[in-house]
Parts: sequence; C-alpha cells; structure tokens
Amino acid sequence: MFEKVSDPKDVILVEGQIPIRHRYTPGVAGEAFFTALRDRGRFVASRCDSCAVTYCPPRLFCERCFDGPLEADVEVGPEGTVESFSVGYTGLEGEPLDEPVTVALVRLDGADTVLVHFLVDSDHLMIGQKVRPAFLPKGKRTGSILDLRGFTPAE
Ligand SMILES: [Zn+2]
Repeated sequence: MFEKVSDPKDVILVEGQIPIRHRYTPGVAGEAFFTALRDRGRFVASRCDSCAVTYCPPRLFCERCFDGPLEADVEVGPEGTVESFSVGYTGLEGEPLDEPVTVALVRLDGADTVLVHFLVDSDHLMIGQKVRPAFLPKGKRTGSILDLRGFTPAE
C-alpha cells in the first residue's frame, strides 16, 4: 500500500465515488469580469503600468512584477485574434462527443494575455483569425463564463 510506484503500469485503479461539494469564488477581479460580461456584454481587464501589460481576464496584481493592487477598469475587445486552438473529439471522461469541440486562446484587442474559450459557428479555422464574441441573450446570462457561447469569425 505504501510502496513507491515507479512504473506507471503498476498503478492500481480503485473505482468509487467521493461525495465532495465546493464553491469557487471568482475574487474581486473575477467578479468585475463576470459582472461586465453578464450585464453589459463587455470584457474588462486590468493593466500594470510598470510592465505595460493588460491582463484579460483581469488580475488583482501583476504576475510579472507583483505590482498591485491592479484595478479591473480597462475595457478590451470585443473582437480578438485566435492565437492557438485545439479540436477535441472526446469528453473529459473519454467518451466520444457527438460534435467536435474547438477550444481557442483568444487575445482580445487591447489585451496582452489570452482568454480560453470555445470557437463556435466556424468551419474554417486559422491562427491569426479575427473573431468576435457570441453572447447568450441578455436575459439568459447568469454571470458565468458560459454567458459567452464562444467566439465566431469576425468577417
Ligand atoms: Zn507588472
């Protein structure tokens, strides 16, 4: 039981369930981001003037120089550029998906960091492609990252 496993093939898999619940709070910067997304369909970011870096999603402090506190008071986007993407054909449990899912790194105009989200309504994918957000209708938004269905080609 307490022997060190050095060969991954020797790992023992025990099936079962652990009843765990949790709540993840978005924090001050995350709350500003999700509120702007839900109420205004806009993206807010934070800027470190010391590094000249604009973070979206916003951060409370700069991850490069640790300057802070930063304010989530800069608006970026709504359009952006696909920096990278990946197409998934299986779900998190290894099950085949009915439709492939495309996840992309999108750098919103005015931001220096990327936002991870879906690419939707697009058969033609390219790195460098300009995209725009596809939001749920305003009455259906709940303050979740899924208030944004994803990004779709801008042209
Ligand atoms: Zn900085």
